[in-house]
Amino acid sequence: MSSALHFDPIRLPPECVGLRQEVREFLRGELDSGRGRRREAFNREFSRKVGAKGWIGMTWPEKYGGRARSHLERYVVTEEFLAANAPVRAHFVADRQSGPVLLRYAPEHIKAAILPRICRGELCFCIGMSEPGSGSDLFAAKTRAVPTRGGFIVNGTKIWTSNAHQADYMLGLFRTSPPAADNRRHGLSQFLVDMKAPGIRIHPIRQMSGEQDFNEVVFTDAFIPQDHLLGEIDGAWKQATSELAYERSGPERFLETLDVLIALVRLLGPQPELRAAEGLGRLVAQLHALRRMSVSVSGMLAAGAEPVVEGSIVKDLGTLWEQRLPARVRELAAFASTDGAARAEFDARLEFATLIAPKLTIQGGTTEVLRGIVARGLGLR
Ligand SMILES: Cc1cc2nc3c(=O)[nH]c(=O)nc-3n(C[C@H](O)[C@H](O)[C@H](O)COP(=O)(O)OP(=O)(O)OC[C@H]3O[C@@H](n4cnc5c(N)ncnc54)[C@H](O)[C@@H]3O)c2cc1C
Repeated sequence: MSSALHFDPIRLPPECVGLRQEVREFLRGELDSGRGRRREAFNREFSRKVGAKGWIGMTWPEKYGGRARSHLERYVVTEEFLAANAPVRAHFVADRQSGPVLLRYAPEHIKAAILPRICRGELCFCIGMSEPGSGSDLFAAKTRAVPTRGGFIVNGTKIWTSNAHQADYMLGLFRTSPPAADNRRHGLSQFLVDMKAPGIRIHPIRQMSGEQDFNEVVFTDAFIPQDHLLGEIDGAWKQATSELAYERSGPERFLETLDVLIALVRLLGPQPELRAAEGLGRLVAQLHALRRMSVSVSGMLAAGAEPVVEGSIVKDLGTLWEQRLPARVRELAAFASTDGAARAEFDARLEFATLIAPKLTIQGGTTEVLRGIVARGLGLR
């Protein structure tokens, strides 16, 4: 195995135990029986309450509204929210990746204006990377930002933009120069985009699960002020790559359909049939291994590393595991004798998990592309 690849066996520190209890108590107070409903995932009021608890931007410096807590503490909060299906959609992207990008690359006055509002749960962000014809191959992006007096004029189309219809801001990746002969990644820049600015139209795209959480976003002569340029002009590929490490390795990569596993445990009851217990044991053991790997990546991010390969492995294994989960739980459910409420609950969760399973290996980077990244990291291509 290449020394470039490693998963240190990181344990969550003791302060995480009390924090976990605190989060659970909060969720019990906020959600019916401590669990949320997936279809009500966007809830600004809930995000404001989470902000008031200090659980958004919790690793950021206090001068920007953060709490200077550790990435592993943040991991625990995220894990509890996702496992409980809490309605985090209004703040999740800002907390996970947009805020950290702003923290690193935005001018001081933008950080001072925006980051405290994210921490208070007031702002929703979306990610403007993919375009028609430029999904996996981000560096083929064609939406152009052309310099004008006091800023840039943007024309082009982004697609699959989750939450664009509800977002206050986007972090957009736009072309500011053609690719260089020796570096096709050159020529892209990253911008903070005010989604209410003139020249931005948002068209919904409906998913087969019935959800409508992503969109096409069309820019027609939209103006972006100069101070909304983030980082280096033409050099955003480095920023976008490190942003993706945050996006790919978190517990959201294997907890999106956890509901159906919990429903199966309830359906099988306290003394499941031997073969059902064995199957359930396997699934839980696999989940545990995924979680250990994900915690390890979080520890590396906390230490300032950029675990791009390890993050890609977690995303690949996590989404494949989740994608196979509906078929496995359906087989195991055949061992249950219970009918009634537990069965109805299980069937509803199974239906939803089945409908969202196909997208899991596409969002956040497709399986094939992630394997390409892993192969490159291992020196195999
Ligand atoms: C639910 C969901 C939410 C999303 N949210 C956002 C968002 O908020 N913002 C955003 O910017 N994007 C978002 N995306 C877009 C997502 O990240 C891209 O769709 C994804 O990267 C794939 O791009 P594509 O659809 O253009 O497919 P393509 O890139 O055209 O890929 C098509 C197929 O070709 C394969 N392929 C492509 N290149 C290679 C290669 N080099 N080697 C081997 N195989 C390859 C792919 O694996 C795939 O199977 C979202 C997608 C989904 C499903």
